[in-house]
Amino acid sequence: MPLHEVIPPAAIARRVAELGAEIDARLPGGPLTVVGVLRGAFIFTADLVRAIPRELTVDFLGVRSYGDATVSSGVVEITSDLGAPIAGRHVLLVEDIVDTGLTLRYLLDLLRARGPASLHVCALLAKPAPAGNAVALDFVGFPAPDGFVVGYGLDGRQLYRNLPGINRLAE
Ligand code: 5GP
Repeated sequence: MPLHEVIPPAAIARRVAELGAEIDARLPGGPLTVVGVLRGAFIFTADLVRAIPRELTVDFLGVRSYGDATVSSGVVEITSDLGAPIAGRHVLLVEDIVDTGLTLRYLLDLLRARGPASLHVCALLAKPAPAGNAVALDFVGFPAPDGFVVGYGLDGRQLYRNLPGINRLAE
């Protein structure tokens, strides 16, 4: 399937460095846990934590959306839970791409119920939120390119996660 690189690795690296500094400046002091959403955000999370110059712990939440891989139903199955409680900790949730925001809304409700001191969201890519369905994103890497994108952790039928840049996948 033809791939077309739309965000090159160097542009991602520059933006990740900026995001790390922004996150460090804006998040309250105190214990921080960065929670990456598996599997799409694994590479972004790995790069982002190295750009946040403060003490933190890293954890992961494994999720699987039901239904068609390219259309979100908002019904999310947790395939692997956090390794440690987040009560009283500042939490930064790291997502790969936010489309309708349904997946994110579900995850935020789940984490909020566990009593974190604060809860912020950083998404690598975000599509414009449809009216009435907006989820507040605190930090965004890039506006999502048109079409279905893969690479830098994001998959198309489990492939392409290892591409270093963001690519549009043309069917
Ligand atoms: P939402 O619930 O916000 O509509 O969908 C978010 C989830 O759908 C993302 O975490 C991701 O798993 C998947 N997704 C949405 N758009 C894309 C895309 O362009 N490429 C890939 N690889 N996944 C996408």
